[in-house]
Amino acid sequence: MADIPEVYYGSNIAGVDSMFANMSQKLEKIIEHLDFSTIEKKDKVAVKMHLGFNDGYQTVPVFFVRRIVEAIKKVGGVPFVTDNPTAVYNAAHRGYTQETCGCPIIPIAGIKDGYATEKMIDIDGIESLFAAGALLDADAMINLTHAKGHGSCGYGGAFKNIALGGYSAPTRWNTIHGVVHRDPYFDASKMTKEHLEKLREACPKNSPTWNEKEKKATCMFYTCDQCHGGTKLCVEADEGKTGWSINPENFDAFQELMAAAAKIILDSFDLSKVFHLNFALDITPYCDCMGMSMPAVIDDIGIIGSKDIVAVDTATLDLIKEQGLNESVLKKIPEKYIRPNPDLSADLHPWQLLHGPMKDPYKVAQFGETRGMGSSKYKLVEVLSAEETATMEPPKHQYEGGPSFY
Ligand code: SF4
Repeated sequence: MADIPEVYYGSNIAGVDSMFANMSQKLEKIIEHLDFSTIEKKDKVAVKMHLGFNDGYQTVPVFFVRRIVEAIKKVGGVPFVTDNPTAVYNAAHRGYTQETCGCPIIPIAGIKDGYATEKMIDIDGIESLFAAGALLDADAMINLTHAKGHGSCGYGGAFKNIALGGYSAPTRWNTIHGVVHRDPYFDASKMTKEHLEKLREACPKNSPTWNEKEKKATCMFYTCDQCHGGTKLCVEADEGKTGWSINPENFDAFQELMAAAAKIILDSFDLSKVFHLNFALDITPYCDCMGMSMPAVIDDIGIIGSKDIVAVDTATLDLIKEQGLNESVLKKIPEKYIRPNPDLSADLHPWQLLHGPMKDPYKVAQFGETRGMGSSKYKLVEVLSAEETATMEPPKHQYEGGPSFY
């Protein structure tokens, strides 16, 4: 039987108000456990993260990015931070620069998002994906992820960071996001613009959408919450005229393709040189691509790290489930923005309570496990827990740590 992978976890809760119980120390302990020594001297190490868009600053804080970059340099690696060209171009706007990160920031698929290699894929209806060149060029990778919600699949974690973030724009936006429409969910020959308008009006999320340019109807599955398992108002409004239906396979297609896309990226590396770090801080309901600030609907949890991508995302989702939704924040948010399940005690993951029961956040990791990418069984090892640090003797308090100018 294969070994059960370890997942290292540093909680945002400290047992004492002292530096040694700080998140920075927990990150360093996690890195120690992950053991970057497999990174060889002069290895080019991609730190793949989401640098945010526009005014969306709730990404992994540069404070931690710099610590990770320093740890890579310590073992002789040559780090570079990388993300899609748009995010890289104005990263300084959100505090990420060569000076602050401690290494260059390089567009993952070149300056025009076209430096990519075609990779064949074994998913129905999809022939190939274009993997980002700078990522394929790297010798090692830190899959550095902001753990948060996502409209298409409920959750954006380690898989999503490289499955969408590891590809050039046409693959990200058209092929991967577009796969939700692969399985037919209505008879297009019977659909008219007027009929679609009826469906749209019935939907509280305005998800049924008419594309005027292409003269065709689609459902914006990203915003659809499946009426939280109750009567689907769009289906009711259709009255069986076009056979409009909301089905799990449309949502699952996205998760399956993400798992397969992540595997292509991982297969391009020696896995002893790949490390996954999930930051469950500032846990927003939607993806960092939104480019705006969002309410944190789940309280901060901490840092989760593993060498196993299935284990790291499963453990992060388990910790999110244990934490639960911040209901006092949720009740301040108008339904137009987020319409949570009317029964918050329903036996669903917090991301399903927000995004709908068909957006099961574990699915991507399950598809990954089926493809031999890792294990959903894991051993959680907490580092510098609150209990442990509470028993440690704090050093004499220093209110102005060096260098002091007082
Ligand atoms: S299931 Fe509900 S939320 Fe989804 S498209 Fe239909 S009416 Fe809108």
